[in-house]
Formats: sequence, structure tokens, C-alpha cells
Amino acid sequence: MKRLLPLLIPMALVLTPAAVLFLSPSHSVLNEFLTESEGLWPSVFQCLPYAFFILAAVLGLHFNQTRIAFVSASLAGVYSQRAFINDGDEFRFLVHAFVLSFIYVIFFFLGERRLRSSGGVVKCLLILVGFALPLHYRRILQQSHVRSVLGTQIPKEMSRLFAGMETVGQIGHRMLFYTIPGCDVPASLVFLFVLTCALIWLRRSATHRILAGGFAGSLASAFLGLSAALFPFSTGSMERSAVTLHFCFSGALLLYALYTLTWGKAYTDELTGQANRRALEEAIVRLGRKYSIAMVDIDHFKKFNDTYGHQVGDDVLKFVASRLARARIGKVYRYGGEEFAIVVPRRSAQAVFPLLDGLREGIASSRLVIRTSPRNPALRGTASSAKAQRVSITVSMGVAERTRALPNARAVIESADKALYTAKKQGRNQVVYSK
Ligand code: GH3
Ligand code: MG
Ligand code: MG
Repeated sequence: MKRLLPLLIPMALVLTPAAVLFLSPSHSVLNEFLTESEGLWPSVFQCLPYAFFILAAVLGLHFNQTRIAFVSASLAGVYSQRAFINDGDEFRFLVHAFVLSFIYVIFFFLGERRLRSSGGVVKCLLILVGFALPLHYRRILQQSHVRSVLGTQIPKEMSRLFAGMETVGQIGHRMLFYTIPGCDVPASLVFLFVLTCALIWLRRSATHRILAGGFAGSLASAFLGLSAALFPFSTGSMERSAVTLHFCFSGALLLYALYTLTWGKAYTDELTGQANRRALEEAIVRLGRKYSIAMVDIDHFKKFNDTYGHQVGDDVLKFVASRLARARIGKVYRYGGEEFAIVVPRRSAQAVFPLLDGLREGIASSRLVIRTSPRNPALRGTASSAKAQRVSITVSMGVAERTRALPNARAVIESADKALYTAKKQGRNQVVYSK
């Protein structure tokens, strides 16, 4: 559930305006606002999505999230074409949707590049082509061989199956613009959206999960906006306001992803991917009346650094951090250096103790494979140095809970730290419970 959250929140943000618009088209406040008011406000509203796109693009470039900047630019391009989609130009609508999906997927996989690098130039070109393609699709359709394919007659028996349609073009049109009953979105768009999400979902590391959620939500909103342009469920300004509103949300979702990505960085330890000390400082003030805190320290960690180098030391840190997080005993924070804190709400230290001890034992019994030449000159160049080695890692832990004598988190951490010190003194690789 926790993993799906970054995807579910943007989805909810997309579906809320969609539900409001689709359920109450005739009573929409926006509708009244736009039909009754004249002058400046409706035009300002029409320009609102551009404000989102420009903001997302500028902030995206500023925070080195160029993908968000590029996708915003593409959305602005498509939004600027909305009026033309309306005049019976259905295919153009589909080409826009296809190009948009393509840009989302390609940019998601291309990764971050600086604007002035060769990758950045390629991306700019892709956007320009993506913008130009829907404008010229007619010429492509009018090519003689394309026309001959579309005009191909299908056998009579098959024609009966397809409600009397006679050419490949007619069947293709019917399939592309088949709308699911009760919903103004063509099935082909739903299919395109699902396919795009599936491709994006293939690459879902910690940071990419946030971006994937933002991209999926933003694309869904843009598709709903395009569908509203193609199938106006009411005449006049309502349909225009629906398009504008969906594109506003599309831009807002990119901003949301950008905010989460940059804000997330400030509270995440880069090396281990776990929450950092700043996150801990803010979380402990929100703890309730009952909680336990465990302090975890890697035993003889300095030796790993001295023997195998800092790189292996970092790998050991990542390994321990992932084991602590995978155990799901509580929220894991990197306290500093090779020390971690685990905050467990609503549980006494006595209840947490066996879980921590099991975790400690699990870490002690597993082996980490390292591949590097040792830093120690005595070991360098020996046969064993060239091979992958398996090293064992142990951790010591101290755990304490909130009591009358330890009324705040700072006191609990201090007590857990003392228990950790005792564990070290007693020979390491153990958990000590501070009574
Ligand atoms: P003890 O069993 O008593 O805990 O001994 P120790 O060697 O683990 O403890 P000590 O505090 O002496 O050493 C901690 C070392 O952790 C010192 C520091 O160089 C190293 N360290 C701190 N942060 C990092 C990091 O991000 N990466 C690496 N590779 N080493 C780090
Ligand atoms: Mg240590
Ligand atoms: Mg230490």
C-alpha cells in the first residue's frame, strides 16, 4: 500500500475534477461563471494552464528536473492546439494523444540531461517534431499508398461482423473512436494510457516512483482534457472550461511531482535512501504518548573502511540500511555516520525487543559479497584480493521507550544510546533494553 501511495495520490487528484465535471456538467459553477461573466476573467481562466506549465518548466529547470520541464513544454503545445481539435478533426486529437504518450515514456527513460548538452538538444528536437506531427498528419494520410491501404475492401462475410463497414479505414476509425458507454473517453485512449503506465512502471526505483506517479496522473488529466475537447458533453463554454480544468490539473500534477521530488531530497539520506536526521528531528515532535526508539550501530565499521576502502564501507551501510527497512519494525532514519534510529510508535521496548533481536541475528547470519581490491597494501595483489569476498557484518542495538522518567523523544534517544553503549561494552552483536 505504502508503495502505491505516490501513484494513488495523483490519481485521486486527477479523478476528483473529472468526477466533478462529469457528474454535474449542467450545474457546474465554472459553467455559470464562464457564461455569465464577460470580459477579462474567462480569458484569464483559459490562460491558467500556461501558468502551471511555465511554473513547472521554470522550477523543473531550476531544480535539475529537466524531464518535468520538457513534458510541461509538450503539454503547453498540445493545450495551445485545443481549439483546432474541436472542429471535427478527430485524428489530430489521436495524434496529439499518441505523441504525448510517446514523449512521456521517452523522457522518462532518457533520464536527466542538462538543457545545453547533446541529450538536451535531442529532447528539444523531439518536442518540436511532436508538436509538428499532428499539424501535418493529413499529408501523411493523403499519401497514395496510405490511402490505398485505408480504402482496401474487406470480404463480405467480415463486413457483416463489423456492422456493414466495408473498408479497412472505416473499421480502423470505428475501433479508434469506440467510446465506452457512459464515458466520454475513447477506448483507444484508455488502452494508450494503460500501455504508457505499464512502460513507465517498468522503471520504478525510489525516485522514479514519484516521477512515475506524477507522469501517470498528468497524462491521465491531459487525456481527459483532450477527450473533453473531442466529445463536448455540453455546448459553449462548458466544454472549453472542462478542457482548461483538466490541463490545469495536468500541470499541477507535474508541479506536485516536482515538489515531492525536491522536498523528498531534503529529508532523505542520499547514500542509503532512508530518511535522514532532519526527518527524524521533525518526526519526533509528532510522536504520541507511547513509542520506543532503537539506536543501531554497525560493529567495527571503521575496520571495513580501513581494510577495503570507503566504497565498500558505503556498500555495508546500504546493506544494513536496507535490512533495517525491510524488517518493517518501525521507520528507519540514518542518525549519522554508521548509526541508525528506528522509531516504533505505539509499542513498548519490551514488545519491540524480540523483533530487534531477530533482525540483529538475521544481519549477523547473512554475508555481504564485496568485489574490490583491499586498501591494505599487505592484502593487495594477493589471490584472494581479486576474488569476490563474503564478509559478515554485525550490529549492536539499544532500545528505550517513553516513560514518566523519559518524557520526550530526546530523553528516549539518549537512554537508547546509553543502552547501545552497554551493548558495545558487553561484546557487541547484541540488543540491550534500557529499563
Ligand atoms: P564500534 O564497533 O565501536 O561502533 O566501532 P566502529 O569502528 O564502528 O566505530 P567508529 O565510530 O570508530 O567508526 C565509525 C566510522 O564510520 C568512522 C567514519 O570514517 C565512518 N563513516 C561515517 N560515515 C561514513 C560514510 O558515509 N561512509 C563510509 N564509508 N564511512 C563512514
Ligand atoms: Mg560502529
Ligand atoms: Mg558509531
